[in-house]
Amino acid sequence: MSWRDLRCGEPRPEQVGQRLTLAGWVDTRRDHGGLVFVDLRDHTGVCQLVINPEHAPEAHAAAHELRNEFVVRAEGELVARAPEAVNPGLPTGGVELQVDRLEVLSRSTPLPFQLDEEHVDETLRLRYRWLDLRRGQMQRNLRLSHTVVQSIRRTMDERGFIDVWTPSMTRGTPEGARDFLVPVRLQPGKFFALAQSPQLFKQLCMIGGIDRYYQIATCWRDEDLRADRQFEFRQLDLEMAFVEREDVLDVMEAVVVDAFAAVGREPPARPFPRIGYDEAIARYGTDKPDLRFGLEIQDATEVTRGSEFGVFGGAEAVRFIVVPQEYSRAELARLEEVAKEWGAKGLAYIVHGADGETRSPIAKFLSERELAAFAAPAGSTVLFGAGEPELVARVLGGLRLHVARELGLADPDAEVFHWVIDFPLFQRDEDTGQWTFLHHPFTAPISGDEDFEGDPGAAKSQHYDLIWNGWELGSGSIRIHRSDVQAAVFRTMGMSDDEANGKFGFLLEALEMGAPPHGGFAMGLERFVALMAGEPDIRQIVAFPKVSSGADPLTGAPTPMPAEVLRELGIEAVPTEAESEGD
Ligand code: ASP
Repeated sequence: MSWRDLRCGEPRPEQVGQRLTLAGWVDTRRDHGGLVFVDLRDHTGVCQLVINPEHAPEAHAAAHELRNEFVVRAEGELVARAPEAVNPGLPTGGVELQVDRLEVLSRSTPLPFQLDEEHVDETLRLRYRWLDLRRGQMQRNLRLSHTVVQSIRRTMDERGFIDVWTPSMTRGTPEGARDFLVPVRLQPGKFFALAQSPQLFKQLCMIGGIDRYYQIATCWRDEDLRADRQFEFRQLDLEMAFVEREDVLDVMEAVVVDAFAAVGREPPARPFPRIGYDEAIARYGTDKPDLRFGLEIQDATEVTRGSEFGVFGGAEAVRFIVVPQEYSRAELARLEEVAKEWGAKGLAYIVHGADGETRSPIAKFLSERELAAFAAPAGSTVLFGAGEPELVARVLGGLRLHVARELGLADPDAEVFHWVIDFPLFQRDEDTGQWTFLHHPFTAPISGDEDFEGDPGAAKSQHYDLIWNGWELGSGSIRIHRSDVQAAVFRTMGMSDDEANGKFGFLLEALEMGAPPHGGFAMGLERFVALMAGEPDIRQIVAFPKVSSGADPLTGAPTPMPAEVLRELGIEAVPTEAESEGD
């Protein structure tokens, strides 16, 4: 007897009369007097088994012992259900297996949670992930993820990309996060860093004549975990030689559109709109705007210059959004708290009541001209931000998202993909005041801006981001392929030549031995699939994720290591503050 002839979700009326063997997990067992009904489940669905005591006394005795999640094999004849027992909601709902042999292949201890139970603590689910994976949602998500990866591989193959494996254990790759370190027994006291991305290796592949590289690459970044962030994640990583920005965007748009088609969804229209960084910040207050709704930021700096309202009068920037909602005083107090979280000192507003009245603590200070500029439909509220442009953008960008979410302004069926392009090449590090990169230090300035050392803040880069409904899916850039320009970037970042050579000498050297112009992209896979699946967090897409403390509840990792293991690696564990206080 084979383990199974069909999967549990496959029996159909056409097979009625056939003898079949099915195998799977007991989803439910119902005892109806003499008859026992079992829903047998696998990843394809459930099939109803019927065990009749007169027909099959041995099978019936075995069926009595069954509990949820036992693994069984059942053999019998597939029969049509009685008309009143047909379940039209189930693909197998017209049939059932009349069992005459039933074998328990594996038993289960009592379960820590039922598979269909709602609101189960997530850590408990992850602790018993092998059970959790049996749920339909996880099965769907992991299979969706597979379909997307297959589609990506097809697209890349069709376009002449080859999959090149690059090392995980390497030197630090500067992607803006901390490195995970790997000690080396053969060289005690020395460490590899786990690659934050294959960035430099893919560039070296271009210098090595690979021409079109891609990889479904695992990346490691030591950052706080969030709904859309794990310590390790995968990205579609690609690099192309002899290309311009548009060639890279074209490939990525094809990747997205093909993946939509692969999972049976209407693909977004191409080309995806392109928005300049400055415009994104001015109109939406962020470099990853959600374009499913308007609520654009408007500028009032000219109108309010010298205003009697002091907060506006001397402000470097005064901007506002018009929210289609007449807010109450209590609601505005709450919004003020939100604005403060984004760094505002307060929140100025004008409510245009449905009754035609204007309510605003600041209106009495505003001139006719100002009031005319802030006219808005009855039943709406004007919310202001005033101060430094970056702060105003952050506050209004944050408020824009917040109120849109609260008021449900985004069309839930809209899928808006777009590009943000023309980023600045450098920005000031908030802590040190030093110039630093926005993307990574290998991003090329736009042509003509190579001479950026005199005024780094003015240079634009060939960096581009792909955004889906306000989520950043990935970033890329055209790279620097001249070692003098690369050295100038390191210098601008405050690195001495010695330091740059110490860290990136191999790159500078490679750039001096025939580097073709090149560029690429990386798209976070889990984030893409989570959005595809409509999941709010990527843990639902990852088979064995970690929780926010960074721990893996299933294996109990990370764990301390015995002193002799550490000694061999040239490491000494220092007690944490909590441990030393306990001494
Ligand atoms: N290495 C970059 C990242 O991981 C992507 C790229 O520039 O290609 O975000």
